[in-house]
Amino acid sequence: MPIYNDFSILKRKFHGKRLVYLDSAATAQKPKAVLNAVRDFAENHNANVHRGIYALSEEATELFENSRKEIARFIDARDEHEIVFVRGATEGINLVAYSWGKENIKRGDEILISIMEHHSNFLPWQRLAKEKGAKLVVVGLTKDGLFDIRDFSKKLSWRTKLVALTQASNVLGTINPIEKISKLIAKRYKLRTRPVFFVDGAQSIPHMRIDVKKLGCDFFVFSGHKLYGPTGIGVLWGRKELLETMAPYQVGGHMIKEVYLDRTVWNDVPWKFEAGTPHAAGVVGLGAAAKYLAHFSMDKLRKHEKNITSYALKKLSKLSYVTIYGPKNLNLRTGLVSFNLQGIHAHDVASALDEYGIAVRAGHHCAMPLHTYLHLDSTVRASFGIYTTKKDIDTLVEALKKIYDMLKPEHDLLGEEQK
Ligand code: PMP
Repeated sequence: MPIYNDFSILKRKFHGKRLVYLDSAATAQKPKAVLNAVRDFAENHNANVHRGIYALSEEATELFENSRKEIARFIDARDEHEIVFVRGATEGINLVAYSWGKENIKRGDEILISIMEHHSNFLPWQRLAKEKGAKLVVVGLTKDGLFDIRDFSKKLSWRTKLVALTQASNVLGTINPIEKISKLIAKRYKLRTRPVFFVDGAQSIPHMRIDVKKLGCDFFVFSGHKLYGPTGIGVLWGRKELLETMAPYQVGGHMIKEVYLDRTVWNDVPWKFEAGTPHAAGVVGLGAAAKYLAHFSMDKLRKHEKNITSYALKKLSKLSYVTIYGPKNLNLRTGLVSFNLQGIHAHDVASALDEYGIAVRAGHHCAMPLHTYLHLDSTVRASFGIYTTKKDIDTLVEALKKIYDMLKPEHDLLGEEQK
């Protein structure tokens, strides 16, 4: 398979077994195209961007700014100047919480989030609400593990100043109806200023085509490393009019036009948010990742992942001792499955899977409020990428059978003896 061969790391062995990498939701593996772009930048084009007046620096700057254009195309942004490079989704969220939030959230305001948020899209708003005397209002789930739009509609009030939601849950895989939500917001606030709509796209962008114009939100954030790009680089997209009203998050080199002893004139958007020497090789690598994915088309890759997820759900649901979480409808979930083995702690399952060369994540996946809401203390998460095969799923399922036989709780053994 051509995709598989683009990822040399998948040929590695652990404990004498072929690596079965089922942790792409934590971080995706990087194709040769990305690794080559990063290496080529360091080897042939390295200079500080936006600063030098010599040819090499201009070349580096051009590669850097071309990546911005590539990313803008990838998410259908109107203007590449709406793309702000940050370290990752977490930094993008903190930037908005600090820069937009501190200025615009006041005592008595409400910030609406959902119970399925990752801590990265929870803590910055929780802290902001505390600091400002605002209220964090949390939308629940339906019994199928979907975003409860009725609850949302009820909680959306004239006090709501910000709606901050994930587009896809990193635990349940649930895809939230962002377009529908932004239409609902627009309809409700026809005659008054509507709340700002912030979308965490960390878990959606690796799985589907994103068109930020169509989504109807004001901000969209994601991390490069989950999108088959390098770590330490991510993107905050924001509507230009909004970005222009915001103060910089950090101050320092390059983000200025003029500096005097008593005042400073900020640079234009997006550079006013990019203080200091940027992670240029990361930016170039992320541009290469976007190009690589666009070459296959996100729609095709989504089809592949749906196929794998459907296969995994079917095979796992045949095991009576496995509990699967999240929506049943494949159209409403991304390429991951969280589950538990009856009576066995998720950490024990994950470390036993490691013995079979299988990499999964176990714990609360930085979504503790969601686990508490579901009365769970932890789950095992198998998450898929564009390189995941049905053979990987078969290996997982066969290993789970053996692990359950070995670790199943005593009452199950007694039950078997009595049979
Ligand atoms: N949001 C979601 C939904 C996530 O899954 C993650 C990463 N697990 C983040 C935000 C934060 O991403 P990063 O750690 O790359 O900043």
